[in-house]
Amino acid sequence: MAQEYDAIVVGSGPNGLTAAATIAAQGYKTLVLEASKDLGGGTRSAELTLPGFLHDVCSAVHPTGIASPAFKELQLESLGLEWILPEISAAHPLDNEPAALLSHDLQATLESLDSCDQTKYAKLVSPLLKDFENLFPQLLQPTAWPKSILPQVRFGIKGILPATRLADATFKGRRAKALLAGCGAHSILPLDFWGTAAVALVFMLSGHVGPWPVAKGGSVSIAKALLASLQKNGAEVRSEREVRNLSELPSSKVILLDLAPAQIQRICADDLPQSYLRRLGRYEYGPGVHKVDFALSEPIPWKDPRCLQASTVHVGGTLDEISASEEAAWKGSPCDKPFVMVCQQSQFDSTRAPAGKQTGYAYCHVPNGSTRSATDEMELQIERFAPGFKDCIIAKREMTASDFQAYNPSYIGGAITGGAATLGQLFARPVLRMDPYSTPNPKLFLCSHSTPPGGGVHGMCGYNAAKSAMKKLSRS
Ligand SMILES: Cc1cc2nc3c(=O)[nH]c(=O)nc-3n(C[C@H](O)[C@H](O)[C@H](O)COP(=O)(O)OP(=O)(O)OC[C@H]3O[C@@H](n4cnc5c(N)ncnc54)[C@H](O)[C@@H]3O)c2cc1C
Repeated sequence: MAQEYDAIVVGSGPNGLTAAATIAAQGYKTLVLEASKDLGGGTRSAELTLPGFLHDVCSAVHPTGIASPAFKELQLESLGLEWILPEISAAHPLDNEPAALLSHDLQATLESLDSCDQTKYAKLVSPLLKDFENLFPQLLQPTAWPKSILPQVRFGIKGILPATRLADATFKGRRAKALLAGCGAHSILPLDFWGTAAVALVFMLSGHVGPWPVAKGGSVSIAKALLASLQKNGAEVRSEREVRNLSELPSSKVILLDLAPAQIQRICADDLPQSYLRRLGRYEYGPGVHKVDFALSEPIPWKDPRCLQASTVHVGGTLDEISASEEAAWKGSPCDKPFVMVCQQSQFDSTRAPAGKQTGYAYCHVPNGSTRSATDEMELQIERFAPGFKDCIIAKREMTASDFQAYNPSYIGGAITGGAATLGQLFARPVLRMDPYSTPNPKLFLCSHSTPPGGGVHGMCGYNAAKSAMKKLSRS
């Protein structure tokens, strides 16, 4: 029977758009359906506070985006995407001492650490750094066989550890331990969980390979470039089309779902076997986030002014404090001193705020589904390392974890990376299958960040899913 489309993609997040763009680029007739009025999922930007202040609603800083093989293949930079590289990837302020700095220049990072840890830091990262330019794309493409297994083994021996154990076993001083903890906290897991050292190392190494960039004009520029690729190849994109059941869709040879497992359970209840749906139901999402966007009268007045050179500032103090904050979020408890991820895009991108003014972006991890505001605690944490910060606030807008799910139904309980990145769910994502993008229904494929390699704006879940779906298309 003739089908209206070769491929339909449900959801226009960076993975949905990348999947659609990859398929459309091969000449297949492709349709994208998006529930929201605005396209782009986690790569949307908006004037959330005041006119002229452009805020990234979700993703802000893109170490995985600039390294993404999928974005390179789609040539997003020739379609209008411009990365802006800061001087420093991440700064980590501490009480009464200079900040630790994650810099492209390894020597600058070493000089920002306690002298007792400088050689140890170099010994930890230097051997891994040699492999990293090859290893990083491999980690993003977990279904491809690596050319050499050695870099993965070298990385895995350290990465399998809990971040706390790697930090305590390697370093003596506060600054190196805190820097590692801040990078490890991107896992959104308690830092004594096995495997959290891998996340810490990926973020540390990526910061040495190149600065963590922001997208000129907002993260929405990534979505715009992906949409330009779709347009170039004649794909159709429709917004305000929430899919509640697959029976609503036009006919197609394959369907790719840029959705969370909990949504797939509902939407595909009649299209997938009960056993598979039950396994999707056991998937864990982990903590949510509470976010605040600020319109600021001036740059954040960090005690250590070098923090202004960083796209991201890890605000949370010592390893022990960050560890306590992440554990509280995981266990469902509020935290007085949360670990706060601060981004300051307007420092590098003048399109984000009116002349002389700045934007501020901050979120912390909170219990899944939380409706409680953590804004006061977050502001106190920033004020701790930047006295006078609160006086710079002209306007602000907060989003609780439950607001995030209302904004994007794929963020279950406000979980922002498609599900907990525990060791089990890193590989069995969302369930254990040889081809994690396939399902028991040969027409249905999964392409969201709930598949490998997981959260972040890199499009690789969508790219890998598109490759899997195109095997079916080439046979039909
Ligand atoms: C606050 C926050 C900060 C973040 N910071 C960063 C960062 O700095 N760097 C980084 O790399 N990543 C960051 N992330 C994570 C990143 O945004 C996500 O991992 C990424 O967007 C996942 O892309 P996706 O395409 O899988 O899903 P999503 O981006 O969630 O897209 C899913 C899309 O599907 C649509 N949809 C949902 N249900 C339906 C339906 N029934 N019918 C039709 N459409 C539907 C949604 O509206 C959405 O547009 C952050 C996320 C958040 C929320």
